Amino acid sequence: MTFNLEHDLRQQLCDTAMKLVEQGLNHGASGNCSARSGNGFLITPSGRLPEDCTPQDMVQMTLDGEVVGAGKPSSEWRFHRDILAARPEVEAVIHTHAIHATALACLRQCIPPFHYMVALAGGTDIRCAPYALFGSQALSDAALEALQGRKACLLANHGVICLGADLTQALSLAVEVESLAEAYLLALKAGEPVLLSPGEMDEVLERFKTYGAGR
Ligand code: 13P
Ligand code: ZN
Repeated sequence: MTFNLEHDLRQQLCDTAMKLVEQGLNHGASGNCSARSGNGFLITPSGRLPEDCTPQDMVQMTLDGEVVGAGKPSSEWRFHRDILAARPEVEAVIHTHAIHATALACLRQCIPPFHYMVALAGGTDIRCAPYALFGSQALSDAALEALQGRKACLLANHGVICLGADLTQALSLAVEVESLAEAYLLALKAGEPVLLSPGEMDEVLERFKTYGAGR
């Protein structure tokens, strides 16, 4: 990868981390993002406020989990690495503690097919991975399983992971999942949400193959 391409990606990673805060999906130093870069990936540094970060602060890692150069990578580098290694179609990974999705994750509930947009994450529901300590290999293993055939999952008592073919797509999915979580919690408060049937969700999944720009 040429210097300019890598610099652009570092800038995009910084901008994405900042947008997550501006859009209310993350706060303080919570959450992290990564993007495939060359044979490895770039990841946000650990415990830093996005507004204090520059492109140079983004940390380059190999898929073997080695830091290239300087910097302390996000404590969640394991699930970023494992997702990028296991899912060749994924170029970017975003992790947030967005409030409504996190509230559902604390109930250890999945997001069922209460709304057709659930299919945007790739299937008929958005699963919730079992609890494991932040930064642990156990959390990464649980996340990978919950992400099978999906581009998003909740993490019990923790937050959300969203995947994309680039950072823009991962960010827009993160926004969508948070909005779905908010609507689902609201519907649960008001009554018992009516779920779409597997057949109805299959129709949506089929329609999504050709929906929207560039698809
Ligand atoms: P980092 O600052 O190490 O990325 O940790 C934030 C987080 O969300 C841990 O799950
Ligand atoms: Zn987290």
